[in-house]
This record gives sequence, C-alpha cells and structure tokens, in this order.
Amino acid sequence: MKLPLTGGCLCGAVRYEILAEPVASINCHCRTCQKSSGAPYLALLFVPAIALIIRGNVKEYATTAATGNTVYRAFCPECGTALFGKNSSFTKVRPVAAATLDDPSVFKPEKDMWVADAQPWDYMNPELPKCSGNFWE
Ligand SMILES: [Zn+2]
Ligand SMILES: [Zn+2]
Repeated sequence: MKLPLTGGCLCGAVRYEILAEPVASINCHCRTCQKSSGAPYLALLFVPAIALIIRGNVKEYATTAATGNTVYRAFCPECGTALFGKNSSFTKVRPVAAATLDDPSVFKPEKDMWVADAQPWDYMNPELPKCSGNFWE
C-alpha cells in the first residue's frame, strides 16, 4: 500500500492522512455499523492511532458495544459522514471507514466480523474468514 493514505468526508471539512501500514482490513457487519452508516456493513481499515492525522473538526458519538466497551464513532458534523472509531479498550488502533479514502480501491478485506448480526440480504464473499464477533477475539 502506498503511504500516506488520504481521505475525507463528503463535504471536505474533515481530511485525514494515514502514515503507517494498516494492521487489518475488516468488513464489520455489527448493528451499530449498520445504523451509523446506513449500509449493511462498514469496510474498516484498522490503523495505528498515532499514524492517523485528522484535520478539521469531528463530532464523536459514544455507544456501548456488545462487549461492554465504549466505542466512540467520529463523524463530520457538517455532512454526517461516518469516518473513524475509537474503542475504549483498544486505544492503540483505530478503525477508519475505508470508503472515505480518496482511493478506496486499495482496501482488500481480509475477514468479515460480527457476521451474527448481518442482514439476510447482506451478500458476503464466501472466501473470506468469518468471525461471529470481533476479529481479534
Ligand atoms: Zn463533511
Ligand atoms: Zn461494527
């Protein structure tokens, strides 16, 4: 992957750079990703938190995950684009919504997670490993 990766929200008020190689590329089918994105799943790049440089203001919305952890979902307050996450128990790595990259084609999903929450009309690549919950557990 050519670094830095760059991206931003729909209106351009929030821009970001990813300076290090992502540690994982995961499709998350959890209900909170469904609700916050309005889509059947969120394609997520997990990147080292220190390597994620954010320009512009984001608003964060805190949710309690199925694991009991607090997950903060950061979005653009102008256009509402879902951009980043932050998990209270895994602060060193942050998920970034891969579809917000300037070149989303670099995203190569490795796994599907929270498939237990997936909708019956959510078609998944049968060749990808499936996790019923978080991929790191
Ligand atoms: Zn925006
Ligand atoms: Zn999710």
